[in-house]
Amino acid sequence: MQYRTDPKSGERISALGLGCMRFPRGVLGAIDQEAAERIIARAAEQGINYLDTAYLYPGNEACVGAAFEHLGLRDRFLIATKLPHASCKKAADLDRYLDEQLKRLRTDRIDYYLMHNVTSPAQWERLVGLGIEAWIARQKERGRIRRVGFSYHGSAGDFSTLLDAYDWDFCQIQYNYANETYQAGTAGLKAAAGRGLAVFIMEPLLGGRLADKLPDRARRVLDGAEERVLASAAGSVPLDAPAAWGLAWVWDHPEVTMLLSGMASPAMVDDNAAIAQVALPGCLSAGQRAAIGRVREVFEQSNRVPCTGCNYCMPCPHGINIPGCFAAYNASYAHGWFTGVSQYFTASAIRSGHPRLASNCVRCGACARHCPQHIEIPDRLVDVRRRLTPGPVGAILSRIAGRADDTGSGRGAAASSGRGGASRGQGREC
Ligand code: SF4
Ligand code: SF4
Repeated sequence: MQYRTDPKSGERISALGLGCMRFPRGVLGAIDQEAAERIIARAAEQGINYLDTAYLYPGNEACVGAAFEHLGLRDRFLIATKLPHASCKKAADLDRYLDEQLKRLRTDRIDYYLMHNVTSPAQWERLVGLGIEAWIARQKERGRIRRVGFSYHGSAGDFSTLLDAYDWDFCQIQYNYANETYQAGTAGLKAAAGRGLAVFIMEPLLGGRLADKLPDRARRVLDGAEERVLASAAGSVPLDAPAAWGLAWVWDHPEVTMLLSGMASPAMVDDNAAIAQVALPGCLSAGQRAAIGRVREVFEQSNRVPCTGCNYCMPCPHGINIPGCFAAYNASYAHGWFTGVSQYFTASAIRSGHPRLASNCVRCGACARHCPQHIEIPDRLVDVRRRLTPGPVGAILSRIAGRADDTGSGRGAAASSGRGGASRGQGREC
């Protein structure tokens, strides 16, 4: 495993971190504990020493805590988890959440503690008003929190303001070859590193869209690249999959301390660890960077809605599979219209007799405020409807969907969604 140094603490951190948000789940939605433990155990075997979870990932902290106890691995990992700051209405809430997180994780300390999904400096200022700076100092003194940072999904301009608003230890940003100028972007990466912060990367493959879901034309660019081996002083590894290219592109940046990958199986841990071993800063050749530049151009032509499939906007009270709709829409540009329509019909449960189409959106607005990609979801669902169910097809399907509503299934969808008000969509922030 390649290790990089946290410039502020001197801690050695594996270049590859384990993101726990996408642990496998069973049919009823609960995390598959045994599968998660196999992934954590393999990560430890591969030398990964950083693990990222969050209060708001359902069942996740408890799963990690139980895994550490079963496997006896607590001291092999640096644990990162996140404060659901939007739910902190008074100073006592800070203690209440941290107490609960320590209990769930079955530990006495959080190594890297993040303000979860900060999108504007005003959110931090509100916490300052609750006394969070003195609170952090007390927790550090007690050893309950070792380092403090934030995960970020706001604009590039606000990012610099936020960096200067506190003496942060680290930050976590969305970064990949399709997002160089999106959110914090390359400018934010360099600004944070320039201030001496450790920079951790999330969404290095854009929720898989730069991996297995890469458009066919973009994949052909990679398959046809002349230099399909990654070589460095640490060895060599074949660049035989889009994911390998995407991860290597991130690690190529010397400002990156660690990259989080939501690995869903031990085999995926092995694959990514093999690349991490070789992908030192500056590992890509000029030709390989140029190939990725061509892939970026092709990808942007089909990336009509920048949805990463994170599910933070779900559930929709009207039963619409929002990320499924956007995945189908993008697929219609990446892989052809018929492929997109086929995916849309599956995502909309057309065959169930109770379809939930993009046209079922009533613009209630419950979803968009939770989207870290700032997608205007109701407007973009109109685009989905227009492209994937044009003319009479749309009219017929809308009539079917309307009948389903008449049967009361729409109410059932709302009732069964377990909606919990403002805190609901934050449940899967990153
Ligand atoms: S705005 Fe539309 S998609 Fe969003 S939650 Fe409301 S009905 Fe669902
Ligand atoms: S919250 Fe945004 S990015 Fe995440 S699944 Fe919903 S629309 Fe996509």
